Amino acid sequence: MDTLELKSIDQAFQQTEEVVVPQYVEFIVNGKQLSQLINQHFKLAKPVFSKFTSTLGTMELTNFDRLKIHQLLTHPVKEKDVEKLFPKKHFEQEPILEELELDKILLYCCAECADYRCSGCFVKVTKSPKTFIWTLDAPLFSDKDKEDNSNELKFEFEQEAYHKAFKTYLLTLQVE
Ligand SMILES: [Zn+2]
Repeated sequence: MDTLELKSIDQAFQQTEEVVVPQYVEFIVNGKQLSQLINQHFKLAKPVFSKFTSTLGTMELTNFDRLKIHQLLTHPVKEKDVEKLFPKKHFEQEPILEELELDKILLYCCAECADYRCSGCFVKVTKSPKTFIWTLDAPLFSDKDKEDNSNELKFEFEQEAYHKAFKTYLLTLQVE
């Protein structure tokens, strides 16, 4: 069984060519950064963080994190949930609702625009009786890239531990 943790990364003081966004929350799978596992598995010429940032811990508004966690736990998200997190008065809901209709979840987004239509690294999450299964395709670096699921990267997490990883993270959001 694979393991999942969430870890806050602060690279503000590191000088690497990859860093676009100094602070984010990384998915740690089997003790390794998921972005690096993706770089290796798909033999990427440009690493994930040359273009993307994590969809967790990047946005100033933590409601984006809450929505993402709903999705990753495969909780159905209805329009009224979106209204609660992102009231029409202040947000353009259409792109959020469109993204929710995809059969996959954006894990790493464009560090400049965060729009799933620009580019992204997506995961499909399926729930089995005892586990959550993640299936990742190669990242789409631009809207011209075609989805290719010939070489997908798969992980399987035990349900209780998976829930715990996200619940622990949600608690850190509530402290703020
Ligand atoms: Zn973009």
